[in-house]
Amino acid sequence: MNEFLPRGWGVQGERGIAFVITGPSGAGKSSVIAALLRRDPKLAFSVSATTRPKRPDEVDGRDYYFVSEAAFDRLVAEGKLLEWTTYQGHRYGTPRSEVVDRLALGQDVVLNVEVRGALAILNAGLSHPVVLVFMVPPTRDELIRRIRARGTESPDILQARLAIANEEVKLIPAFHYLVVNDDLAAAVARVEAIVAAERARIVPWPT
Ligand code: ADP
Ligand code: 5GP
Repeated sequence: MNEFLPRGWGVQGERGIAFVITGPSGAGKSSVIAALLRRDPKLAFSVSATTRPKRPDEVDGRDYYFVSEAAFDRLVAEGKLLEWTTYQGHRYGTPRSEVVDRLALGQDVVLNVEVRGALAILNAGLSHPVVLVFMVPPTRDELIRRIRARGTESPDILQARLAIANEEVKLIPAFHYLVVNDDLAAAVARVEAIVAAERARIVPWPT
């Protein structure tokens, strides 16, 4: 802690902070997060469990824990998930250990979850700050182009993801920050600015 800070005060960066990144599928969340993690070793990614099939470029244990329906049932039954949801017929959940254990060690954690999951994390009673970031592409046309360009979804699923996106953006006002991902490097820099600002925030400190 800096010696100039009066007793009883600290900066948020001395504790673990949870940075939750949300936004429509195709906004570029995974791309931005991958760059952030490469650039800031103090950030740890919260790897979610999912029943969705793995995409070719994904790695089990790095991008997700790819689990069976039965294994997911067990995670739910044993209370191992901080929150979980069903998205397009597949279940996704945040393992409690990925977030709570790391925050307790003073690490900052980055989560990639959909809108309701983000709000659930905010209300999960964590004893650490939770910062909610909503990421969008510059336009709807660009969103469609990016989902197509990724090439991992069939036309039906693309339409469904766009419909979900239209619902998700209605909840933008519940978030703390909006980041427009026009140029990837610029979007990464914007999120880094948020991380730096939140770490510098002056807060009461238990003595
Ligand atoms: P999300 O994780 O939000 O679903 P992805 O990171 O998978 O989104 O990005 C969707 C697609 O858009 C990918 O093909 C990715 O390479 C591309 N992409 C991400 N950010 C940008 C950007 N700023 N400009 C152009 N393409 C982008
Ligand atoms: P995708 O299938 O494109 O990887 O992810 C689909 C959606 O599920 C994205 O909006 C992503 O943020 C969200 N998601 C991924 N993991 C979790 C999780 O653990 N919990 C919740 N609520 N959503 C998640």
